[in-house]
Amino acid sequence: MSFERFCAKCGKATDAVINGLCSDCYLKNHSLFEVKDFDVERCVKCGKAKVKGKWCFLSDDLLVAELTSKVKLGRGIDQAKVFVELIPIKDDAYSSTITVEGFINDVLIKAVKPFEFFLTRVSCDSCMRLVSNYREAIIQLRAPSKDEVEAMLVVTKQLFVMESTKDSLAAIVKILQGKAGIDLWIGSKKGANRVVRKLEKIYKTNAVISKKLIGIADGGAEKFRVTYCIKSGVSK
Ligand SMILES: [Zn+2]
Ligand SMILES: [Zn+2]
Repeated sequence: MSFERFCAKCGKATDAVINGLCSDCYLKNHSLFEVKDFDVERCVKCGKAKVKGKWCFLSDDLLVAELTSKVKLGRGIDQAKVFVELIPIKDDAYSSTITVEGFINDVLIKAVKPFEFFLTRVSCDSCMRLVSNYREAIIQLRAPSKDEVEAMLVVTKQLFVMESTKDSLAAIVKILQGKAGIDLWIGSKKGANRVVRKLEKIYKTNAVISKKLIGIADGGAEKFRVTYCIKSGVSK
């Protein structure tokens, strides 16, 4: 095996020469890639993260995809392949190894770089609304006895735990105990509606629905707050 070419810098004999340099020497002065504008926010309250403008539950796969999309390749690389290995360190801290392989002037070249990052801790829009007592609906739980109302509250809370995995605003914002029963303030109209449908089945009853005008939206549409009254133990 005979080499006809040499690296101009280190003198190594190799056929893989880019601009007169072996791939090692080339990489010392040229960056194959860099990570640009990588910033993922994670809500400290619900744990969701903002990826491509959307709040969702974070997985390692999603984080790898996001990081891969922020790898900006240097000029002149053909058929580049990006590999990301993610190593969670603790809480919101991660380490990763990014490998880029590609061809420059028909020479296969490979660069590996470590990349460490933290997720930015924030409160998401939904959680911000929830702490400010934002509510779109009210669910009133009514029953002949206090114990029965408390039991309804336990069931309702469980239903909202399930709903809030899909929609952070589908949550109980406030619990008001009254003589007549318990009133729950709910952050999302849709979430409240889904839970009410389930409560209707469980308690074999129909909710009494009332609407209250609470304002006019920017587009001129009227905004209503819906109140659902669920009565258990009442034969119709
Ligand atoms: Zn060299
Ligand atoms: Zn949140």
